[in-house]
Amino acid sequence: MEDHPRPQLHVPAPGLVSGPPADAIEVREPDTGLLVDRVPVLGEEETRELVGRARAAAGPWSDLPLRARAAHLKRLRRLVVERADEIAETVSRETGKPPIDVHVQEILVACDHLGWAARAAPRVLACRRRGPPLLGTHRRRVRWEPYGVAGIITPWNFPFVIPLSAAVSALAAGNAVVLKPSELTPGPARLLAELAARALPDPDLVLVATGDGRTGRALVDAPVDVLSFTGSVATGRKVMEGAARHLTPPILELGGKDAMIVLEDADLRPAARAAVWGAFFHAGQVCQSVERVFVHRSRHDEFVRLVLEEASRLRAGPRRSGAQIGALTRPGQLEVIEAHVRDARERGARVLLGGEPSDGEGRFYPPTVLSEVTPDMRIMREETFGPVLPVAAFDDEEEAVRLANGTPYGLDAYVWTEDRGRGRALARRLRAGSVMVNDCVTNYGLSDLPFGGVKESGMGRIHGQEGLRSFAYPVAEAEPRLRPPRQPWWFPPADRARWVKAWLHLRHGAGLADRVTGALAALRQD
Ligand code: NAD
Repeated sequence: MEDHPRPQLHVPAPGLVSGPPADAIEVREPDTGLLVDRVPVLGEEETRELVGRARAAAGPWSDLPLRARAAHLKRLRRLVVERADEIAETVSRETGKPPIDVHVQEILVACDHLGWAARAAPRVLACRRRGPPLLGTHRRRVRWEPYGVAGIITPWNFPFVIPLSAAVSALAAGNAVVLKPSELTPGPARLLAELAARALPDPDLVLVATGDGRTGRALVDAPVDVLSFTGSVATGRKVMEGAARHLTPPILELGGKDAMIVLEDADLRPAARAAVWGAFFHAGQVCQSVERVFVHRSRHDEFVRLVLEEASRLRAGPRRSGAQIGALTRPGQLEVIEAHVRDARERGARVLLGGEPSDGEGRFYPPTVLSEVTPDMRIMREETFGPVLPVAAFDDEEEAVRLANGTPYGLDAYVWTEDRGRGRALARRLRAGSVMVNDCVTNYGLSDLPFGGVKESGMGRIHGQEGLRSFAYPVAEAEPRLRPPRQPWWFPPADRARWVKAWLHLRHGAGLADRVTGALAALRQD
């Protein structure tokens, strides 16, 4: 394979420190192997230096009123719209997905998040009064303070929208950010930093530490003031250990093995189309991918027929070839998918479509549909992160819930039914951070909803008001309404014990009579 001349897409890399890098990484197109870029692996000292610069920028930024910060975020949104084609090309080259997918799945969603955060932050993060307006011992308020510097470590599958989503919440809350993009796809984060440098008052508010796991570790240990990590469960554990060393609050967005349950009354055509899209877009390299489908036995064969009809129209291939499914971005992912499909076959699954990697150069795997899959198979327990759709039958709702909840993951879950009440009731029994009825995956684009998982899919939330508040801590403010020379609870002389007990009964007795008699009895005590 021939090396490609370094493209001019990349920006002067805001956030990169000068001087020779300790090490460098080659970024290559996954569908052709062509060299896209060489980026430095920042070491501990360089990463700490970036965090120091970000910290200096964070102070004046957090002093700005919320509405002024929101205006800067809107400016960033305008720049993203202006540079949409360049962003799409950068993401497409480094991930292998078709540029149109980048427009739909990353740029549109990113702009929605930017717009929502700019509108909502002044309300969600405003200082608010608590407690009764006139009564009570103290006047109370809660205000939200930024942590300082947010370290944001991200994966390769959505290399623009994932860093942007976390960065936008962190910035709206008044933090500066240091991004550590995946070593496979550093370009989009660098482009984001360039746009942020133009939209925000200080170019050090969004800095990029390129590198691999070593740089990620260095960022955790810099340390930063709040950590947002998106990636695998295995790395998430390490990041959490690092966060524990510094007592840094972590937000962990980890893997998924999302289930779709199709009930007997479902409209099968859209359900099958959704399952095919949810399993195969971006070659299944999506944490929210439909990785398991459970269909009521009475509709199983019909559903599988419709899935095959839809899926057999799709093709995996290079991003400019007209194929709907692009390359597998991560070296090594093909082997994981092959191992899962082989294991399923050996344990009795039927391969109805695909099942063999495509011939020729590049990492491609064809859309693959399996039936007669069972919970013991790896394909039903572990994250496959490939274009494979395993379908199993169930007999009743109890079984469907048990099967869907039967993995260590809990990111998203989807239910398909014509009875919305039944769908909601069933969805409430699924252990997942997000549930959808009659749709899948698109919840990530609904900016006012919190996004995140339970169990091994992680903790903490991005998006929505919960996401904005993940990057800020609440400060409780209180002032006494009355200021006597001595408050009744300050070192009370022993003879005040009666009054304290009377007050306890008056405030917390079971009913009015109980309160009064209890208080009088306490006052009469010696
Ligand atoms: P990964 O865990 O291998 O890497 C993620 C990031 O962590 C990369 O930037 C990497 O360089 C960095 N890293 C590696 N070792 C580190 C260490 N010791 N300390 C700190 N940082 C370190 O994951 P990946 O292969 O890039 O991404 C795929 C995974 O991400 C899948 O499991 C997928 O489900 C998950 N994911 C989750 C979400 C979500 O929102 N829940 C979204 C997208 C992807």
